[in-house]
Amino acid sequence: VTPRLLGPAEIRDLAELLDVTPTKKLGQNFVHDANTVRRIVQTAGVQRGETVLEIGPGLGSLTLGLLEAGAEVIAVEIDSRLAAQLPHTVRLMQPGTSLTVVREDALRVTELPGEPTRLVANLPYNVSVPVLLHLLEHVPSLTSGIVMVQAEVGHRLAAEPGSKVYGAPSVKAGWYGDWRTAGQVSRMVFWPVPNVDSVLVGFERGDAPGDPPGTEEERIAVFAIVDAAFQQRRKMLRQSLAGVLGGSAATASAVLQAAGVDPQARGEQLTVEDFLRIARAAASVA
Ligand code: SAM
Repeated sequence: VTPRLLGPAEIRDLAELLDVTPTKKLGQNFVHDANTVRRIVQTAGVQRGETVLEIGPGLGSLTLGLLEAGAEVIAVEIDSRLAAQLPHTVRLMQPGTSLTVVREDALRVTELPGEPTRLVANLPYNVSVPVLLHLLEHVPSLTSGIVMVQAEVGHRLAAEPGSKVYGAPSVKAGWYGDWRTAGQVSRMVFWPVPNVDSVLVGFERGDAPGDPPGTEEERIAVFAIVDAAFQQRRKMLRQSLAGVLGGSAATASAVLQAAGVDPQARGEQLTVEDFLRIARAAASVA
């Protein structure tokens, strides 16, 4: 019988057929373990008939798992050889399932052929955070997701204020909803074996922070303030935010005080709501 998911032999054969040497630049590490694939699909809670967005389907390991669970998959792949092969692999291994391949850079997609509600992906590691933020901004139909990322990045995305790893990605991701880590994945399930560990991270989209909720214009202002605050992570906010809040430590202090934030605090202590209050105070002073 034809297997329904890709194991080590199928991954090797496909790579040979396509003459692909996985590149580091595109984060090409392919999963060759069916149990891992089924675990990701289960953790994601994929429903039969729902439209799932996958970024970077590669040789199709996770794609086949999603199709097996009855999802309709839209897969965005930047590598044209992989994008071109995927429909053939799916036709052979899981005929009659629904897959649409989009050959594009995930950092540039704005329109998709459908309205995916869930994101399930083993993300290319060097661009995982920008890809997530881009999709949350440009694909409003996405309400939840499970992604596999480098362990450090996963812990950062799910970090709370005050934690050592809390940073700009934590605050920006937090703008869009709630994040949690959802289990480790051994590096041995990949070919080639990467030199980093991986975790699964889940998110549920929520309302924007604030009452009334922050607008798109405010989100842009908040992200600029967050970048400044964490660029000089060890400085007090009145110093790190001087540039974006009026030009001097004194003007920054006044804005911070108006926002109810201690000018001597550091970015790593602030919630996304705090950052929004700072942006609102800055806008009302301007
Ligand atoms: N999903 C497959 C798996 O689990 O075996 C492959 C995952 S591999 C970690 C990442 C995939 O993302 C590769 O297929 C790579 O070509 C693709 N990729 C890299 N950068 C991309 C980008 N900017 N947009 C879309 N796909 C990208």
